[in-house]
Amino acid sequence: MTASRARLIDGKASAQLVRTRVRERCELLKARGVTPGLVVVLVGDDPASHVYVRNKDKAAQEAGFAVRTERRPATTTQAELLALVGELNHDPKVHGILVQLPLPKGLDSDAIVRALDPAKDVDGLHPQNVAALVTGQPGLVPCTPAGCIELCDQLGVSLAGKRVVVIGRSMLVGKPLAMLALARDATVTVCHSKTRDLPGVCRQADVLIAAVGRPEMVKGDWIQPGAVVLDVGINRKADGKLAGDVDFESAAAVAGAITPVPGGVGPMTIAMLMANTLSAAARQTGNAELAYGR
Ligand code: NDP
Repeated sequence: MTASRARLIDGKASAQLVRTRVRERCELLKARGVTPGLVVVLVGDDPASHVYVRNKDKAAQEAGFAVRTERRPATTTQAELLALVGELNHDPKVHGILVQLPLPKGLDSDAIVRALDPAKDVDGLHPQNVAALVTGQPGLVPCTPAGCIELCDQLGVSLAGKRVVVIGRSMLVGKPLAMLALARDATVTVCHSKTRDLPGVCRQADVLIAAVGRPEMVKGDWIQPGAVVLDVGINRKADGKLAGDVDFESAAAVAGAITPVPGGVGPMTIAMLMANTLSAAARQTGNAELAYGR
């Protein structure tokens, strides 16, 4: 095994810190008569989605939120789902709505996301929240990218003036991450499947963030010595084990700090969902000063 010299970034500990802060602020909101309410909408019976939803439910309960899951069969129609979203939009006890994606075939997830009240869109995917992120206005930010920035903050890594390379340009991870890093005054490069000389571009990164979905694609010799490496990827290998997008052993021998998979970026996603729900509840009830991060 290669001798590892990178600092291991403990995403579980960072996530726990976020969740503790959220719980404390939830207590303050409750003292003002507001219990943050989260509803998770789960359509169909995708086994992975069921696991994610269970974890979200548990985290929300621990945070002190009122949480419930609205389960619907895979046969649910677009109109039925839109009606449910409409009801939840109008329920003053519900501050956050999360529609678990992907939805079963036949349902138009873009239209469902557009139907959400942007103030309750705790996944940060509504076009109004995307626009807020791009224009630097307050809004709800997708949880995984927000978790990456929170990890940097907790590590004491300032992004100002740094070269940040993001591999991946999805609406869920790559693009919002690029915007968040830009807002922190980083010089940002976004790579994708058509990028030429990807290893060469990655070698310029002070902070390299991989959100690709290809197991162990990023090798140690793609990494600038001492760089911070955040591995968003969650991939199931042929042997059943989980792997990130980064080849951990070779990367850890070169990087200055690196997230493991599992136990790195993953736990931050749920923690930031809790932070978003808290912030949504605080802003909707005139308690914006209790929003996360303020
Ligand atoms: P998508 O499939 O939506 O996007 C993948 C991106 O990677 C695309 O922009 C694609 O480029 C790019 N890409 C694919 N192959 C290559 C390649 N060979 N070289 C360079 N770029 C490439 O994935 P997501 O953004 O949704 O997720 C990325 C990974 O993060 C997945 O492993 C996913 O499981 C994980 N994930 C983890 C989360 C967590 O909580 N830790 C949460 C969300 C996702 P192009 O646009 O050109 O096709």
